[in-house]
Amino acid sequence: MDATILNYNVSDGVSNFLSKNKQLYIDGKWVDSKSGKTFEVEDPATGKQIATCAAGDSNDIDLAVKAARKAFDSGKWTSIPTNERGKIIWKIGDLIDKHAEELAQLESLDNGKPVTIAGAADVPLSSDIMRYMAGWATKIEGETIPISVPYTPGAQYHSYTLREPVGVVGQIIPWNFPLLMMAWKLAPALAAGCTIVLKPAEQTPLSALRLTEIINDSGLLPEGVLNVVTGLGEAAGAPLAAHPEVDKVAFTGSTEVGKLITQASAGNLKKVSLELGGKSPTIIFPDADVDAAIAGAASAIFFNHGQCCCAGSRLFAHEKIFEKVTEGISKIAEGIKVGPGMDTSTEMGPLVSDEQFQKVSGYIESGKQEGGEIVAGGKYDNASGGHFVHPTVFSKTNADMTLVKEEIFGPVVCAQPFSDENLEKIASEANNTNFGLAASIWTKNISVAHKLAAKIRSGTVWINCHNIFDASLPFGGYKESGWGREMGHEVLKNYTELKAITVNL
Ligand code: NAP
Ligand code: MG
Repeated sequence: MDATILNYNVSDGVSNFLSKNKQLYIDGKWVDSKSGKTFEVEDPATGKQIATCAAGDSNDIDLAVKAARKAFDSGKWTSIPTNERGKIIWKIGDLIDKHAEELAQLESLDNGKPVTIAGAADVPLSSDIMRYMAGWATKIEGETIPISVPYTPGAQYHSYTLREPVGVVGQIIPWNFPLLMMAWKLAPALAAGCTIVLKPAEQTPLSALRLTEIINDSGLLPEGVLNVVTGLGEAAGAPLAAHPEVDKVAFTGSTEVGKLITQASAGNLKKVSLELGGKSPTIIFPDADVDAAIAGAASAIFFNHGQCCCAGSRLFAHEKIFEKVTEGISKIAEGIKVGPGMDTSTEMGPLVSDEQFQKVSGYIESGKQEGGEIVAGGKYDNASGGHFVHPTVFSKTNADMTLVKEEIFGPVVCAQPFSDENLEKIASEANNTNFGLAASIWTKNISVAHKLAAKIRSGTVWINCHNIFDASLPFGGYKESGWGREMGHEVLKNYTELKAITVNL
């Protein structure tokens, strides 16, 4: 693709990459899909095509799984000493940093997010988790366990556990943080000694392909350890989730597809971890630092255009400060500069696709019909071909409204006041959702903060902050927000099996 067609100033690396045919990466080689089929990737700011990618299907998935299986079973990866494995993962982190500008631009072009945000958050967080997991490669340990065995009196045993790689893993990732979701999945799987078949989202395959190209060019990974099959969910994702030679599937995306993954996995009872949707509450008490809470609650919903599984989409503010809070968030919403992500002055880019644009604008309309009052935004515009939805604040919402119940995955917050400071009542409203991913609590009263945090049924609770992530902090959901945790040492459980060994002394 000629960079001038894009009308943006992109680095040589990006224009070179876009000009090339995008193939599948199987067994250390770039190949076309067996069917020869392709799909188009668009720039969400214009709706124009920017790349063509190979559309993999079950045949390509089968080849990729066989390559990963061979690489795993031959010990090509697991036999590398763990300190060397750790160094390789660390070097992948360094390569991400070395190509930071290019990866940030690709992420912005593909997903629509501001290039400044991709450069400040997505890319450095991706290299950071590589380095964090590099350290774990040498620290995945078993234990020695004293045993008694009452039915063999007098016998002596030595028992210990080994934590071994689970094997071949299928990883299916979404479009909201394409590079970061790849890094979250790749880093722990590599550290644990697994081999991988990755299926990026159809909307945003570019940064995964470019990072794979960078890794391939570096020669760091033995062939077959990492395989990448781009393609559509039903054609490429479903056969990966169902494949009998895949030992584990890790998925991030919608709750609906998460349920399909669990069904597909039943054939060989492969292990499954799921990081799914959310409808996270932001709860502001009257004693909070209200200015900080306003800024925090606005960023909780507007960061990444609300396309975050942990977006603070249900805002509960005490009636004493409700008006001040909604006015403050509305003021922030109206001040956010919406535009193409590649424009460095843009603060909020387009939504990722027309499908998301239709979905989010549909929720705005249904919110109005159900009696919600728009106090900021409510505008959406695709006249230019881009999928722009303005940051929107709804007041007068209640738990029965569709836009309060369902995950919108857009920059739309539903505000409702609470009057009672009874923590049981507040927790019960906050927990009144099928999801359980995250929550934030804003108060100066540490006792209230900790008591309420304990009552919230979600995998993450932030106090006087929101969207604070670290490679060392486990992240994942209760209820329909998922199974298992990503990041931290906790994620290594997803990628390992535990073996108990007993020796009769
Ligand atoms: P999605 O369908 O769940 O997509 C996530 C990944 O799963 C993509 O790689 C997708 O491939 C793949 N996939 C789709 N159907 C599959 C199947 N039957 N078997 C295996 N893999 C399959 O999400 P979406 O349609 O892009 O977005 C819909 C909604 O999901 C959003 O509005 C939002 O509510 C939620 N979502 C949540 C997250 C999160 O981080 N929790 C992220 C993204 C979206 P394709 O790309 O080809 O469909
Ligand atoms: Mg795209």
